Amino acid sequence: MIIHCLFFCYFCKLNKKHIRLFCQIIFNTTRMIVPIIGYGDPVLRKTGEIVSPEHPNLKEIIANMYETMYNAYGVGLAAPQIGLALRLFVIDTTPFSDDEELDNAAQKKLQGFKKTFINAKMIKEEGLEWSFNEGCLSIPDVREDVYRNPTITIEYCEEDFVMKTEVFDGLIARVIQHEYDHIEGILFTDKISTLKKRLIQKKLKNILEGKTFQDYRMKFFGKKGR
Ligand SMILES: [Zn+2]
Repeated sequence: MIIHCLFFCYFCKLNKKHIRLFCQIIFNTTRMIVPIIGYGDPVLRKTGEIVSPEHPNLKEIIANMYETMYNAYGVGLAAPQIGLALRLFVIDTTPFSDDEELDNAAQKKLQGFKKTFINAKMIKEEGLEWSFNEGCLSIPDVREDVYRNPTITIEYCEEDFVMKTEVFDGLIARVIQHEYDHIEGILFTDKISTLKKRLIQKKLKNILEGKTFQDYRMKFFGKKGR
């Protein structure tokens, strides 16, 4: 069915937005792009609460998170970033698979790695810390090198609520660690040196006040008249 939709849209020369809309009508799914919460909002500092299978509109929340993440060209999005202090995040590392510095095997691993993490609990982080230039959809125009362990063991469940324990490494682990921090109320800017923190202070203040430009919807805690 999806293939039919795509072909239909291709031949009609419709753009991506139309394809999405068309598939939504056919599959009767409603997904919404929601605003991403900007740096400085207290919700980004809350520890996420456990999600129960009966959580209202959970399926819709997850669908909206994917839609919002894709719209902003992100590789991960955590529930606090859409204003919900829940232990929930989604990731899709496909955009990283284009990196020409990676070998074929690494690119393949990242391609189509899409997963929902519910009630995640970090069990172990190990290996020699490595640095990677991170960014965050809640902190636009700020990128900094962050050191993290390369291998993680994490307990989580997907939408079927069956708990499992898995080991991840490399960039996949990196994205999970970044998103996991969000559900613990931690931001990547907490993990940089005092000097670097001082250097980005003005940028962070501008984000808090909404004095920033990005091509996706955001909500700012300190924006006057919001
Ligand atoms: Zn982030």
